[in-house]
Amino acid sequence: MFEEFAREFPRCAVCHWPEHDTRRRLEIHHLMSGSARKDDRRNFLRLCSQCHGIYHQGKIFGNFPDLNKRILLGCKREEDPEYYDPEFLAQLRHRKHLGYEPEELPEWYRRERSKHAR
Ligand SMILES: [Zn+2]
Ligand SMILES: [Zn+2]
Repeated sequence: MFEEFAREFPRCAVCHWPEHDTRRRLEIHHLMSGSARKDDRRNFLRLCSQCHGIYHQGKIFGNFPDLNKRILLGCKREEDPEYYDPEFLAQLRHRKHLGYEPEELPEWYRRERSKHAR
């Protein structure tokens, strides 16, 4: 399941870092983690090691604009729309609604995307 997803997404969903550039690893992030973690494509987002680190470690990781769960949800909607399912994600927490909305990707990451376009 991971492999199939990885094949379909050879780029970071946030900054579009390409898999073939091995200076960063591409990893699978779970949108819902902890006890709500589930290995289901609706819960996956492919992230490069830098964006993944920024999300989980924030400022400790370096001086980059913050990534939060709302922004990552927005990336899921944008990059993998068929599998964008906020109700499913809410169910993983035994809730009807997630309680937050997807957010636009900050401009800094949009510029990263254009640099990583090739
Ligand atoms: Zn990235
Ligand atoms: Zn993660």
